Amino acid sequence: MQGLILEGTTEDSVRLSNDIEIVGDLEPRQVRVEIHAAGVCGSDLSCVHGKYYMPTPLVPGHEAAGKVVEVGSAVTYCAVGDHVILSTFSNCGHCPECEGGEPGNCRTAGLGGLKQPYAEGDQALYNFANLGAFVQETVVSENQCIPIPKELPLASASLIGCGVITGTGAVFNRAQVQLGDTVVVIGSGGVGLNVIQAAHLVGASQIIAIDRVPQKEALATQFGATDFVLAEGDDFDAVAAVKELAPGGVNHAFEVVGSPKLLADALNMTRPGGSISAVGVPDLTATVTYGFQALHQNKRLLGIRAGGARPRKDFPMLADLYMRGKLKLDEMISNTAGLDGIQDAFDALKTGAEARTVLLPHG
Ligand SMILES: [Zn+2]
Ligand SMILES: [Zn+2]
Repeated sequence: MQGLILEGTTEDSVRLSNDIEIVGDLEPRQVRVEIHAAGVCGSDLSCVHGKYYMPTPLVPGHEAAGKVVEVGSAVTYCAVGDHVILSTFSNCGHCPECEGGEPGNCRTAGLGGLKQPYAEGDQALYNFANLGAFVQETVVSENQCIPIPKELPLASASLIGCGVITGTGAVFNRAQVQLGDTVVVIGSGGVGLNVIQAAHLVGASQIIAIDRVPQKEALATQFGATDFVLAEGDDFDAVAAVKELAPGGVNHAFEVVGSPKLLADALNMTRPGGSISAVGVPDLTATVTYGFQALHQNKRLLGIRAGGARPRKDFPMLADLYMRGKLKLDEMISNTAGLDGIQDAFDALKTGAEARTVLLPHG
């Protein structure tokens, strides 16, 4: 089958293969899923650039939706024919963290577990983020398959698996923004737009969006931003710009770019008692330096992976909000393409001019 293979740490080390196979038979709790839509997220670019230190060769991609085509003998969560959103959490479901409602912190299947579910000839292939979604079929744990209504278009549904849960989960699950709170969102790409729309959904009174690309103003406003700040020039002072619009600072700052410098700035944008959410992910070895006083006044600095998601609770909730017209998904899709459109999608991510490209492995 067709899929993408990453063999190095540059964009031109990604190639299209027609000879990828799934290795072995399904284990009792595994599910084989035909992937019909896979969004290209900033983390895919970071993975390709080697910022997550993943072993290669690997199949990239981690934001996907598709149809269940085969289930293992003990699978109960989904059935053949179901439409599912795939989760990157390959959690066990019964360790203390899973039982405590933190599947992202699972003891037995948390971050760092490496699998090689694919092969090209004799060469075994790793999958990125427990998924490896830029391929026509994948095998995952049943815990990673969350059924959704068939009326929900799969291209729109795929976004819930990463961009939407990462942004909305930061607001709902981690920062817990309240009615009337003030918010700043640094970066208005696919994830940032979801921070904005979640803050809007819970009734934040002021939502200041910051981005370096002027075209993002229309999108940010459409998703609920009340103010837009264009980050122009090398000497742009983000803290001063926010303080001008929100004297004294905001209740919640979300850094979505993945810049250690901007995360340090975010601490200075918040009021005493405020929260700072590190949503964007820089190189995993990056160091963040901030003045102690910036955090001192009862502020909360939150590390966040994938929106602190509880996929079985959050994905159906987000799908339902979409079906009822309350959550924007279609508006995030700037382009669709085949698997061979990956480089154009990376180029679009780098210029920051659009929200999302969704790859359609079956056309
Ligand atoms: Zn667990
Ligand atoms: Zn992602």
